[in-house]
Amino acid sequence: MAEIINKDKVWINPREGNSRIVKLIEIKQNLHFCEDNGKKIIIASEQLLSPEECQVCNFCGNIDIQKEAWVGANSGKYEDEIEECSYWCGECEVHPIPIMLNEYLKINNDRTNIKETN
Ligand SMILES: [Zn+2]
Repeated sequence: MAEIINKDKVWINPREGNSRIVKLIEIKQNLHFCEDNGKKIIIASEQLLSPEECQVCNFCGNIDIQKEAWVGANSGKYEDEIEECSYWCGECEVHPIPIMLNEYLKINNDRTNIKETN
C-alpha cells in the first residue's frame, strides 16, 4: 500500500553537488515519488532530508554550505569534524551560522509578512 505524504523535503544530489526543495508525494515499496517544479521524479531515501534536519546558511538559505573537518594527510579520508568549526557559504561567500531550513523558512515568511503589513 502506498503512503501519501505531500510534504516538503530537501533533495541532495551528491554526484551533481546540487540540492533543492521538492515535495515528497508518496512512498511506494521504498520508492520516493517527488514533485520537482511540476515534474514527477523518483529519489532514493538517503538523498532526502526533511527541513527539520537540513542546515542552511542563515543569510541566504543556501543548502550547499561547508564546514571544516580533519582529513587524513595520507589517506585523504574524512576523520572527524572540528569543534568550534567555521562554516562557509559559497553563495554569499561569508562564514554563516547554520540554521535549520524550517527555521529559515519561518523567519523569511515572518519577514515577508512584516513587509506586507507596512
Ligand atoms: Zn549564504
